[in-house]
Amino acid sequence: MKNILIAEFKHETNGFTKEPTTMEDYKNRNLVLGDEILDYFGNVRNEIGGFISFLRDKEDVTLLPAIAANATPGGKVNRDVFELVRDTILETYRKADHVDGMLLSLHGAMVPDPSVSQDGEGSLLEAIRQVTGRELPIYITLDLHANVTDKMAQYADAIFLFDQYPHTDTYDRGVEAAENLYRFLHNEIKPVMAVQKIPILCPCIPTGVEPAKTVMEKAHDYEKLPGVLSVSVAYSFFYADIEEMGMAVVAVTDNQPELADQIVKEFARFIWDIREQFNLSTISVEEGVKMALAEPEGPVVLADGADNPGGGSPGDSTFVLRALLEHGAKNVAVATIYDPQVVEQAIAAGVGSTISIQLGGKEYPEMMGKPIACDAYVRMICDGVFINKGPMAHGLVNYLKPTVVLVVDGIEIIVTQTRYQPWDTNIFNAHGIDPTEKKILLVKSVAHYRAHYGQIAKKMINVDHPGLTATSPKEFTYTHLVRPVYPFDDNFFALK
Ligand SMILES: [Zn+2]
Repeated sequence: MKNILIAEFKHETNGFTKEPTTMEDYKNRNLVLGDEILDYFGNVRNEIGGFISFLRDKEDVTLLPAIAANATPGGKVNRDVFELVRDTILETYRKADHVDGMLLSLHGAMVPDPSVSQDGEGSLLEAIRQVTGRELPIYITLDLHANVTDKMAQYADAIFLFDQYPHTDTYDRGVEAAENLYRFLHNEIKPVMAVQKIPILCPCIPTGVEPAKTVMEKAHDYEKLPGVLSVSVAYSFFYADIEEMGMAVVAVTDNQPELADQIVKEFARFIWDIREQFNLSTISVEEGVKMALAEPEGPVVLADGADNPGGGSPGDSTFVLRALLEHGAKNVAVATIYDPQVVEQAIAAGVGSTISIQLGGKEYPEMMGKPIACDAYVRMICDGVFINKGPMAHGLVNYLKPTVVLVVDGIEIIVTQTRYQPWDTNIFNAHGIDPTEKKILLVKSVAHYRAHYGQIAKKMINVDHPGLTATSPKEFTYTHLVRPVYPFDDNFFALK
C-alpha cells in the first residue's frame, strides 16, 4: 500500500499591503483539516481536487490528507498560520505508519512574517525535509505567478506550474502531479527536474495574449519531446517585494537530467530575448470609461486590474466607479467594492431604505481614490454564499460574509465585508443581477475574469491607475528587490 500525504498551503502575498494575512483570513476562505478535505475538495476543479480524484480510486493508495489552507491574496502571512500548516503536515507525516510520497498544492509567492523568512514555500519545504530526509518524493504544484526560489528548487523533487492564465488548468496540474508521483512509486518513470531563473519581472499577461501565448505553446512543444514529462514557466509576482523575484523555467524529464538542463537553458534564453514584449501598454480610467460608453452593445467589462483583490489589493478603489458616476453611465453593475462599514450601515438600515454613505476609498485613499459621498438605496442583503459556475475552480462554494447590493444613481454595486476577486459571473446572479443584461460590468480583477466573463462580454477593457496591483513594476518603490533585473536594468543576462 502506498501512503500519499496531500496538503494545500496557498497565498499570494503583496508586500505593499499594510495589513497582515491572519488565521481569520484563512478561515474565511478555507482552512480544512484531515479527512474532511476529501469531501470538501472531492468535486472541486483545483489542484488538491485533482490530487484526490486521480488517487482516491487507486486500490493500492491510501490518501493522508493533512491540511488545506488558502486565503485571499493580501499582506504577509502571520507566523501562527505558517506554523499551524507546517506542524499539521509534519504531525500527519509522523503519525502515519509510513509515507511513500507527498503532494503539496502551493502558490510560490507566499511571504510569511519576517520572523519566519521571505520565502514561505521554500521555508515550508525546508522544514519538511528536516523531518523526512531527502529521499521522500515531494511533488508540488505552483501558480503561474510564482517566484521560484532556490529553496523550492532544492527541496521539491518535481514542480508543476499552471500553464494557463486565467488559471483554468489548476485541476489538470493537480492530476499531473499526482499521476507523476503515482507512476514513480510504481517504478514506471523517474522524474528529474531542472530550474532556470530568468531575471525579468513580468506583468500579468493572459496566456491567450502575446507574448505569453507563444511562450505557452513553446512549453507545450517541449512537452512533446520524448522523455519530457513537464515544462512550465513561472511568470514571477513582482508585488511580493522579496529578494528572489523573477521569472523561471522548470523542466521535468524521465531520468534525463541533461535534457532537462538543456531545455530550461534554451527556453530561458528565448524568454530573455523577447523581454521587451512583456512591457504592456495601458489604458487610463478616463479613456477606458469613455471606450465602454461608446460601445453600442453590452456587456462591456471594465476591469480594474490595479485594484485587484486577487493580487492583494483591497478592492475599494473608487477611481473607476467615480468616473462612471461622473459620466452618468446607466445600466451598470459593480462587483465588488470592499467596505465593511457601509455593509454594516446598510444591514442596520434594512432593505428598501436609503442611506447616506461614504463608499470605498478607506484603505489607501491617497493612492487609490477617496470615498464617494452619496445616497444609496439598499436593494438587497445577501448571505454572500454562491457557487462558481465558470471555468475557474468550478464547483467551489464561496463563503463571503453577508453582502449588500446598493443602488447609486442607477448603478448597482455589490458591497462586501471581505476582499474578494469576482472572477466568476455567478456573483452577479447570486445578487439578483443578470450580468448579460448590463451595458457595463465593473469588476475588480486583472485577468481571471476573462475566463468566465469572456463567454458573455462584447468587449473587455483593462484600465490602469496607481494602486497596489498597478500594471508595471516601475510603479513601485521596492525594499528588497535585488538588481540587476529587467525592466529596471538591461543587457546583463547571459546563459552559456
Ligand atoms: Zn496566478
